Amino acid sequence: SYADVCGQEDAVRAVRDLIELPMRHGALFEAVGAHPRPGGVLLVGPPGTGKTLLARAVAASCGAHLELVGGPELLSPYIGASEQALRQVFERAAQAAPALIVFDEMDSIAPSRQRAEAQHQQALVAQLPTLLDGLEPRRAVYVIATTNRPQAIDPALRRPGRFDRVVTMGLPRQAGRAAILRHHLAPLHLEGGLERERLAHWLAARTRGASGADLAH
Ligand code: ADP
Repeated sequence: SYADVCGQEDAVRAVRDLIELPMRHGALFEAVGAHPRPGGVLLVGPPGTGKTLLARAVAASCGAHLELVGGPELLSPYIGASEQALRQVFERAAQAAPALIVFDEMDSIAPSRQRAEAQHQQALVAQLPTLLDGLEPRRAVYVIATTNRPQAIDPALRRPGRFDRVVTMGLPRQAGRAAILRHHLAPLHLEGGLERERLAHWLAARTRGASGADLAH
């Protein structure tokens, strides 16, 4: 749930506005003559800052079907297999709508064409924009892509209607780190009179530069 994504309040609010609101209240949008806008949201930030966590939370809170796609599942060396797998992701999502498709580490799935050396990667880069453009507002299929290197993603994917909305998830500052630590310390049984709150603050002050994943670990 959103409560598991600590210290990223701005990102949580932005993603809820961009995805949860139209997904849950599509009818309201239509009632005023506006269409909920399909297309994707790019979550940008260093590894372990909670991007996948947030994407999962959005899907869970909307009761939406989730298609979580990583590079290795898609990148098959067999001719045509990658494109077929990608098409099936969009088909499954459309059938199970409302649905959220999450591309994890998009820069490795759809790198800029110069970087996409392998043929199957080039084919994916060429096909993805077409699939994104084919999303209909009424079908309630939304797409999130996560990356640490937005400039390494094929520019064709950054055009309007595709991944044109960017939400940043940076490394947490001290208060954010304390929130993350508090969350992960909550289920632990502490001995020797250790106080959770003080421990979280003590650790947060000494873990500058740590990501959420580092702190959880
Ligand atoms: P990313 O997708 O940004 O690489 P993940 O969402 O996969 O990072 O995070 C990995 C794990 O690290 C999570 O499952 C969680 O345990 C912890 N974590 C990361 N960010 C946060 C956060 N903001 N609040 C709480 N836990 C976090």
